[in-house]
Amino acid sequence: MKNKERYVFLECPDCGERNYTTFKRQKSPYKLEKRKFCRRCRKHTAHKEKKL
Ligand SMILES: [Zn+2]
Repeated sequence: MKNKERYVFLECPDCGERNYTTFKRQKSPYKLEKRKFCRRCRKHTAHKEKKL
């Protein structure tokens, strides 16, 4: 397979809750960061990727 994809967690930086999972290309050099709603913080935070 050429474009290997894998799951990663998107983790809230404030509380550490892993709220989302998403696909990511394995060779992607940068870390994913997405503004997502955190239920525990009850606000949008810049969720960062964490490996499964
Ligand atoms: Zn949070």
